Amino acid sequence: MDIRKSLIRKIEECADLHPGNRSEGGGRYFDRPLIGFASGADPLFREYKRIIGPFHWTPSEIMERAGAPSGGTGSTVVCWILPIVDSTRMSNRIQTRYPSRAWGHTRGFGERFNDELRRVVAEWLVSRGGRAVAPMLMEGWSRLDDPRTGLASTWSERHAAYAAGLGTFSLNGGLITPRGIAHRCGSVVTDILMEPTRRPYSDYRENCLTCRGGDCGVCITRCPAGVISEEGHDKDRCRRYTYGPPFQALREEFGVPEVGCGLCQTGVPCESTIPEG
Ligand code: SF4
Ligand code: SF4
Repeated sequence: MDIRKSLIRKIEECADLHPGNRSEGGGRYFDRPLIGFASGADPLFREYKRIIGPFHWTPSEIMERAGAPSGGTGSTVVCWILPIVDSTRMSNRIQTRYPSRAWGHTRGFGERFNDELRRVVAEWLVSRGGRAVAPMLMEGWSRLDDPRTGLASTWSERHAAYAAGLGTFSLNGGLITPRGIAHRCGSVVTDILMEPTRRPYSDYRENCLTCRGGDCGVCITRCPAGVISEEGHDKDRCRRYTYGPPFQALREEFGVPEVGCGLCQTGVPCESTIPEG
């Protein structure tokens, strides 16, 4: 079996069997992942420096930070989407102001499992003779408030997943994948070269009904903070709402460092699929 297929199996097995992907009721946080690959040489990663900001790392910069020689032999970005299970999505669908407990646990404890998956994938690639790092777990990864872009970070998992053919952006800024917009995503960069996944879209917001000229906008009405409009999503106002005092109380009540919100990702036509129309 080639290394790409073996890695896909490893990621699927980890999501199937790892105890970290088990919620308090014994169910799972995430269903079987979607997996995609991007070439580190894909021009999109240089474009991201223009679109997001010069602070956004390219895969080759990440490899150099991981000790690879400058101008090395290339790299691959391995990306995955962890679809949030139906019962959690259902529990959030009925919320009108704040996330459900199951949603908050998925954002907190489920993301802890996602970090573990990042480590498992990187260690597996190293055991196959490569260099491999999870950008989100690297020293130096940070969030910042850029005067032009607003809230941003030195590596965006969603932009990596877009490059790896896993989905497109949307009116509310989420990534709509074949398993919908309600998910967590992750990535690892390695100098082991693997075939990239074809991107089955031509526009960066193609999977969103409103963005492709259809009739939707349900996420606009779902947002309790009123921060989504036909023009898009106001990241700064979203953050102010989701880090306000009621959310601080929820973090304490649920016992997690982050609870998310996700009202714009549930009870919407793109919740678990690419909407038709
Ligand atoms: S709810 Fe509709 S408008 Fe909003 S992101 Fe999903 S498809 Fe696009
Ligand atoms: S845009 Fe922000 S505040 Fe509004 S529903 Fe989505 S996550 Fe919640």
